[in-house]
Amino acid sequence: MPEGPEIRLAADKIQQAVEDKKVCVKFGLTKLKRWESKLSDVTISAIDTHGKAILTRFENGLTVYSHNQLYGRWICTPAGEMPETNRQLRMAIHAKDQSALLYSASDIAVLKNEELTTHPYLSKLGPDVLNPNLTSKQVAEILLSKRFRNRQLGGFLTDQSFVAGLGNYLRCEILFAAKCHPKKTATSLSPKALNRLAKLILEIPRQSYRHGGITNDLAAAKKLMENGADFEAARFKVFRREGLPCYECGSTIIRKNKGGQACYYCPPCQSSN
Ligand SMILES: [Zn+2]
Repeated sequence: MPEGPEIRLAADKIQQAVEDKKVCVKFGLTKLKRWESKLSDVTISAIDTHGKAILTRFENGLTVYSHNQLYGRWICTPAGEMPETNRQLRMAIHAKDQSALLYSASDIAVLKNEELTTHPYLSKLGPDVLNPNLTSKQVAEILLSKRFRNRQLGGFLTDQSFVAGLGNYLRCEILFAAKCHPKKTATSLSPKALNRLAKLILEIPRQSYRHGGITNDLAAAKKLMENGADFEAARFKVFRREGLPCYECGSTIIRKNKGGQACYYCPPCQSSN
C-alpha cells in the first residue's frame, strides 16, 4: 500500500495538473454520479493530503475524499489522452489542458465541509507526519500518551490514529534508525531514546517524500545504484532485506510477522535501549 510520502507525491502531480483550474468531474462509481452536476465547471482550490487520504477541495465548498488502499492509482495525462490500462476508472478530473484520473480505488466520497470532521476514516486520523507544523516534541507526547505508551512500537506505528502516513516500510525503517526492537514500548525507552525515536518518526517520512521513497542514507543508496543495484534494492536499510547483511553491523536482517504485516529488523542493532 502506498504510504504518506507516495500519496503526497501523487497529490503533487494532481496539483500540477488541475489545481486552480476550472474542471469537470466524472465518476465511475454509480453512487457518486449524482454529484457530477455539482462538480462541473468548478475550480479546484487545493489538493491536500492527510496520511494516505487525498482531499480534492473545490471552491464551492465540496471536497472529494479518496483513499487509494492497495490498488488505487492516479494517472495524470494531457487532455483527451487516456492511458492504456485494464483498470476501472473511478474518478476523472478534466481541466481544459490536463486530466487527473483515479483508477481502481473504491473508497471515494464527496463531502461537505461540515462532514470532514465526522467522516469515519478522517475523524480518526492522528496528525500528518508530513505536516511541517508537527514537531518531534508533539510526537513524543503522543508516544507517551495513555493510549500508546505501553503498546509495542512495532504494533502501533502504522496505526493511523497515532500519526497519519506511516505504513509498513516506514515502520521498519524508523525502528531500525532509532535502534528500537519492535517489541519495545515508549515507556521502556530512556528519555534520550524516546526523543530520538520521535525525531525519526518525522525525519524518515520527510526524507522519503523529498527523495522519491529513499529511506536509506542518500549517499549509500546512490553508491549502491552506481554499483548496479536497482532502486528497490538500494532504497531501504531493512525493509524487504531479510537474509541480507545489515549495512551497519553485517548481521542477517530477519523478518517476523507483526500486526498482520511482515516486520523486518536487525536483532543486534535493535536490541539495546
Ligand atoms: Zn545491524
